[in-house]
Amino acid sequence: MSKLIFEKHSLNHASWLPALKKSEEELLRKIPGRFVRGAAPGLPEVSELDVVRHFTNLSQKNFCVDANFYPLGSCTMKYNPKALDAIASSTSFSQIHPYQDEDEIQGALKILYEMQLYLSEITGMDEFTLQPAAGAHGEFCGLLITSACHKLNGNKKTKVLIPDSAHGTNPASAALCGYEVVQVATNPKGLVDVEDLKKKLSDDVACLMMTNPNTLGLFEQDILEIARLVHKAGGLLYYDGANMNALLGISRPGDMGFDIVHLNLHKTFAVPHGSGGPGSGPVGVKKDLIRFLPAPRILKEEDKYLFEKTAPHSIGKLRSFFGNFGAIIRSYAYIKALGREGLRGVSENAILNANYLKARLKDIFEVPYGGTCMHEFVMSAKAQKKRGVRALDIAKRLLDFRVYAPTIYFPLVVEEALMVEPTETESKETLDEFVTILLEINREIHENPQTVLDAPHTTPVGRIDEVTAARRPNLRYKRELKQEAGNKKQEVVIVK
Ligand SMILES: *Cc1c(COP(=O)(O)O)cnc(C)c1O
Repeated sequence: MSKLIFEKHSLNHASWLPALKKSEEELLRKIPGRFVRGAAPGLPEVSELDVVRHFTNLSQKNFCVDANFYPLGSCTMKYNPKALDAIASSTSFSQIHPYQDEDEIQGALKILYEMQLYLSEITGMDEFTLQPAAGAHGEFCGLLITSACHKLNGNKKTKVLIPDSAHGTNPASAALCGYEVVQVATNPKGLVDVEDLKKKLSDDVACLMMTNPNTLGLFEQDILEIARLVHKAGGLLYYDGANMNALLGISRPGDMGFDIVHLNLHKTFAVPHGSGGPGSGPVGVKKDLIRFLPAPRILKEEDKYLFEKTAPHSIGKLRSFFGNFGAIIRSYAYIKALGREGLRGVSENAILNANYLKARLKDIFEVPYGGTCMHEFVMSAKAQKKRGVRALDIAKRLLDFRVYAPTIYFPLVVEEALMVEPTETESKETLDEFVTILLEINREIHENPQTVLDAPHTTPVGRIDEVTAARRPNLRYKRELKQEAGNKKQEVVIVK
């Protein structure tokens, strides 16, 4: 087990910095007494070299897309071109402040304004807001717009329909906005069951939230009929576009009849988003809903970009300033660099890679909803379970082969689900290597299942009791005040 940086605390460290010209006392006299602390802050004292080694070694214990293949690419992490980080770090972006006058940040406002136009064009919507900070936040925004729209029209609607294959944030967002969630069934082809939808549609339905392609990676072929049915019942159609990886430049939710969409810039476009942030979940709407968008909107009048001054029907402000600016800049640069043809190429390659892997893996794992998939597909470890090995064990064993664990047990409609999305940037060699690894694991399941059940064997932390780890975390250190020789009383950390 590695030591904590606190355990490496030592006063015998070497510093290469020259001694201060003034004494500590002299400097302290210049600081008003109320700002001077009574005891040292309790930070570990470690030499620079030891600090560098400590954090470099820690970083190498982790998986990252720069070192490892991620079988559920865009949802967890797909490759984000490094040039985009360089662009976003430019001082032209990093050293401006949202409180500056409109006149001083015209360039930034222009980018935000153009980004709204690009996203509208990509999705077939009429107007976008860039405020929401992630996908779930975008859903929340879209449902507030839904609610504001129905309220203004004097309609009391209480229900939101959601297919049973939907991402968990969909029902959570609907519940957060005060709606009753009603599930719509999936048919044997893995698509929304239109007959079940008809039964559940009524005057009470505020909207149907859909993901297309759905989380099984299948395109909802009845989408035009579904849109007609929902609109006829007086409801809105909401598009969960967290993952647009399959549609860029090919088809548009706006053309399919969707009224509101959210996108995850951090999944489809280019934003590294490991460990929960930072994301960006812009929301687009059709013409009739523009007035409800979060305020203030960014407008263009002649050559000047400015904030809308009044917005009586707006749902209000959802996030400080303009959303996650750094995330938006990266995605803006990605869209600009790729252009219309390049974006289409992203989706075509994502679809090709997913279908290649599916074709190669379908003899090892059952793929319950077959047919051509879009950017992802879901396999089942049902057959492996009969031999006592579950999807969880396979995901853990993959770590030993330096492959990140795919999403498992989602969507819920597939037993022992293993979700695979290779993304557009992975080479055929990497995909073939992944197949070889899964073949090897499958051989182990037949010949020596215990190896898989005990995995991972080579990671810094082996199989852990996840429930106990979450419920009763063992925080290994405790702080105490201690007198050190020749020093002021100092807070040090005692490791238990
Ligand atoms: C990831 C995802 C979300 C949620 O997005 P966050 O940015 O994680 O809040 C919603 N729907 C689908 C289909 C997703 O894949």
